[in-house]
Amino acid sequence: MRYNIVSKGDHKSNSIKENMETQMQNTEMIKDTETPEIVISVGGDGTLLEAFHKYSYRLAETAFVGVHTGHLGFYADWLPHESDKLIEEIIDGEYDVIKYPLIDITVNYNDEKNPSQHIALNEATMKTEDNTTLVADVSLRGKHFERFRGDGLCISTPSGSTAYNKALGGALIHPSLRAIQLTEIASINNRVFRTVGSPLVLPAHHYCLITPVDQRTIMTSIDHVTTKHHNVKSIEYKVAKEEIRFARFRPFPFWKRVHDSFISDGRDD
Ligand code: NAP
Repeated sequence: MRYNIVSKGDHKSNSIKENMETQMQNTEMIKDTETPEIVISVGGDGTLLEAFHKYSYRLAETAFVGVHTGHLGFYADWLPHESDKLIEEIIDGEYDVIKYPLIDITVNYNDEKNPSQHIALNEATMKTEDNTTLVADVSLRGKHFERFRGDGLCISTPSGSTAYNKALGGALIHPSLRAIQLTEIASINNRVFRTVGSPLVLPAHHYCLITPVDQRTIMTSIDHVTTKHHNVKSIEYKVAKEEIRFARFRPFPFWKRVHDSFISDGRDD
């Protein structure tokens, strides 16, 4: 099997990576940085986000698994002391593949420029370039829903619902649900300006179109990458056709990961 290991780059992650590569020697495993069938990310959830974007052009052929060099993560759910066991499992080649939904993002421009296409594993946000109030019309499935005023909007995947979305008061969504969630970032709500104020969960056959009213330069963040877009007409968000595939060697249910991350991992009991 063809593999690659992506490290966060710190000393601990690099030494785990080197140890794993040594274990792979003299086995059927072939290191392949271009077309790996399995990508092992060593670091944190942030490292797995980077690995995902590095291989987002071949999601149908690549499965991901993460080793967390900090505390347990949502995407990186193996601990450093388990890395030898993980490599044995990978060499055995027996694993289930579980798939999580992604967001498809299309940025449309006012000029002749072609729309730009993006994909997010956690979330996509939309803000102004200078932190002024974003004023934008929100349409759901082609129908005007509200005019938003505030810091910005965040559209997250179910697996990203535990990240920025959670800090914005969004719901935690099980990744078996093919949905996206729209949350407000500090909306202005008074007698004059009104938004729904609650996170909205959209099914896969609904899409969300956000059209800035005054601003034309928009900052988007897609997972860990922030980009400035000029002359933006609108941005469309929907559940992507592609999915991320995780190599699963043992059960680790989503709600247990939520419990262990936010309630207690047993170490403080
Ligand atoms: P970062 O600022 O270095 O790390 C953000 C934190 O979010 C890290 O602790 C990371 O875990 C954690 N994280 C990432 N994905 C997660 C997930 N799906 N569920 C729970 N926690 C998750 O940034 P980064 O490492 O480049 O990651 C970018 C992410 O940061 C964005 O996608 C966004 O979700 C998140 N973020 C959160 C806030 C907030 O909560 N107020 C604000 C901005 C951005 P690890 O330590 O395991 O890497």
